[in-house]
Amino acid sequence: MAYAICIHCGDTKARALDACPECGFVPESVHDRAQSMVATTHNLSEAKLTAVSAALMRGEKVELPFELVLDYMDSFEGRSDFEPPPRIPGKGCGYLVLFGVLAALSLIVLVS
Ligand SMILES: [Zn+2]
Repeated sequence: MAYAICIHCGDTKARALDACPECGFVPESVHDRAQSMVATTHNLSEAKLTAVSAALMRGEKVELPFELVLDYMDSFEGRSDFEPPPRIPGKGCGYLVLFGVLAALSLIVLVS
């Protein structure tokens, strides 16, 4: 059965973004929501989730997979009205690639 755990107290709940039936914690910030989404059977094995839950119940700090939390933070932030300007690769990047190619070429020449 799919379930989520409260990132505040470690109790189980049906859906990641629900209010916790035990402590009433509602994930509201982007970071809390991202962590809550990761702390579900969708993203973690039941064994791992049980370990996270047990650690939270003991009042310990838990480490959730950082990359996953970041992914969710990105997707939550992407839904807001704020549009970050598109990133245009600068000239420096092109020169770096050119330099890499030249270095590789000179290496080939030196080796042969
Ligand atoms: Zn809770």
